[in-house]
Amino acid sequence: IDPVHVIGGGLAGAEAAWVLARAGVPVVLHEMRPIRGTEAHQTDRLAELVCSNSLRSDDPDTNAVGVLHAELRACGSLVMRAADANQVPAGGALAVDRDAFAAMVTAALEAHPGIEIRRGEVVGLDDPSWTSTIVATGPLTSSALAEEIGRLTGAAGLAFFDAIAPIVHFDSIDMSRAWMQSRYDKAGPGGTGADYLNCPMNREEYEAFVDALIAGDKVSFKEWEATTPYFDGCLPIEVMAERGRETLRHGPMKPVGLTDPHHPDVKSHAIVQLRQDNAFGTLWNLVGFQTKLKHGEQVRVFRMIPGLEKAEFARLGGLHRNTYLDSPKLLDATLALRSRPSLRFAGQITGCEGYVESAAIGHLAGRFAAAERLGRTPLPPPPTTAMGALLGHITGGHVAEGEAEIEPGKPRAFQPMNVNFGLFPPIVAPKVDADGRRYKGTEKTQVKKRAMAARARVDLAAWAAAD
Ligand code: FAD
Repeated sequence: IDPVHVIGGGLAGAEAAWVLARAGVPVVLHEMRPIRGTEAHQTDRLAELVCSNSLRSDDPDTNAVGVLHAELRACGSLVMRAADANQVPAGGALAVDRDAFAAMVTAALEAHPGIEIRRGEVVGLDDPSWTSTIVATGPLTSSALAEEIGRLTGAAGLAFFDAIAPIVHFDSIDMSRAWMQSRYDKAGPGGTGADYLNCPMNREEYEAFVDALIAGDKVSFKEWEATTPYFDGCLPIEVMAERGRETLRHGPMKPVGLTDPHHPDVKSHAIVQLRQDNAFGTLWNLVGFQTKLKHGEQVRVFRMIPGLEKAEFARLGGLHRNTYLDSPKLLDATLALRSRPSLRFAGQITGCEGYVESAAIGHLAGRFAAAERLGRTPLPPPPTTAMGALLGHITGGHVAEGEAEIEPGKPRAFQPMNVNFGLFPPIVAPKVDADGRRYKGTEKTQVKKRAMAARARVDLAAWAAAD
């Protein structure tokens, strides 16, 4: 069998290569690092996590990304296997030691006899000997390849920004001000209920901090960048502060479910949380503190946080572009380019957002390409599953009439998205419990989520068995 060429050894490409090889289809996996780098990657490892070390909620019953975790595990995902094997405590979230995680994925792919890893930038997609290709080059696709994709699709990828959150050395944190506690003492897998590091602020400190964020020197925009919208799930902290003085207190700095043991009688006005970033517990990232403040300003402003007055930063925040296709128009239901079906796309470049989502779309692209190579018809997962719901967002299944139109000069309507229950088809959930008591308020939402998750489990199993 001719190999499938997978371009990009990130979350999506690594997963796609694994799926193909396990199906008995040979793979050539092209990764440009370390010969050519990106603005965010720091190593030559495959499946490197460029920002947070969290794969988010691991709750398979009431959280959509938790459902996605469960589905990927059920399908034998390499990314999930490596994540499970390299967990660090993080409350209800699945966070990993990023180095050990990427090392395990890299070793598994290198060791597979069906996979050849070629290091080097791919700049063209016209090699006639490549009869099946998956492009999984991510939000930081090299500019030469981005140009080539733009030429092929007629629709240039749209650039906007994600921002990296800073990472602090543990031994530079003042523990006479800070304390360890998970919100509501929640203990997730491998957690203790005291997984986060908390830094409290009183009203004056909070107000001064908001002022400093707003006034702080930012990396300036180029003209074309100024019109590009932020992805809502990854707003820079100073942009949140600009939206309203209370926004941070109701967002990443909300002071609920936490009690300052140094001053148990004082109610904190706001609380900054840090999450463990490596297995040793020596590095901690500021949760939700993605930023486009200049590096010097970050050090000055973030040292205003009580407990971080002497913080040493292992990594400061930064700005990065995102490249993605107008997939609902361009791709079919199996992620193949309508105008050239031998070419598939996977990962964030298709318009999903997040590590797990990218791995999931890589998984599907791998399955679809493998089916084709093996003479079978690719079978997309049902839209009631998390994988199917996400695929539907990307390939148009749930895009409303006219939503994918691009008007010159206006922000495009198709936006990258994390998996969420809003992408699942509606469900009629029970209105009363086993004792006939009516569910109320948020209970109703929880019941609905549980019903959707249960339906996804059943439908995923049926699909996996049929495929
Ligand atoms: P990537 O993981 O980026 O992999 C693409 C690979 O392709 C890279 O290894 C790159 O080197 C390679 N490549 C690019 N061009 C070429 C070429 N021409 N030839 C050969 N190889 C090439 N998601 C989260 O869930 N949580 C976060 O906290 C988070 N923070 C982010 C911060 C930043 C700055 C960015 C840019 C993204 C962030 N994301 C985050 C999104 C996350 O990066 C992506 O969702 C995920 O890594 C995308 O997976 P991917 O496989 O599509 O791309």
